[in-house]
Amino acid sequence: MAKNKLAIYKKKRDLTKTPEPGINQRRKKASHTFVIQLHKARRLHYDFRLEIDGVLVSWAIPKGFSTIHNEKHLAIRTEDHPLAYANFEGVIPKGQYGGGTVLIWDKGKYKPFMDEKRYIMPMKRALDQGALKFTLNGKKLKGSFAMVRTSKGSSKEQWILFKLRDEFSNDRRNTLNVKSNSFSVKSGRSLKEITDDETHERSRS
Ligand code: MN
Repeated sequence: MAKNKLAIYKKKRDLTKTPEPGINQRRKKASHTFVIQLHKARRLHYDFRLEIDGVLVSWAIPKGFSTIHNEKHLAIRTEDHPLAYANFEGVIPKGQYGGGTVLIWDKGKYKPFMDEKRYIMPMKRALDQGALKFTLNGKKLKGSFAMVRTSKGSSKEQWILFKLRDEFSNDRRNTLNVKSNSFSVKSGRSLKEITDDETHERSRS
């Protein structure tokens, strides 16, 4: 199943030329992993990925997340990624799709949102219907968010992302200071440090 969903991922990359993970993933017990990768490509953006049915369903979010209740940020759906991508941090060579430096900005588990009647909608169905709600438990980000699909063009689906009201939301101030928060939760490194490290490694070998 997951292999078909990853056909576009594979097609977009030459896996002999990029350090990004391949698509032959081991069957593992379904879990609810999420990852947010800060990606310095032509434009700096965040890639948000949610594990749903054996793949990482993905969106590019130019402005990233906000803790301000109801502040809407654009999210552009991108191709599903293999589960192993949640651990990927490094430098994608120029000329490979999405080339540039990738930093694991946040990572953790999420819970599908439960409504007042204690109903939990299956994530796959919510995705197909274009309305997701989930609660993140990351190192930087916590609390509930919603995503709503606003256009379903043949190429790129557009969604909006916004914070739901809870103990982690606020009305005026985004408590995520993007600048001071731009270190990796995996390695503690900045984008520049990752770029420098990997470039040195390559020139040494
Ligand atoms: Mn990206």
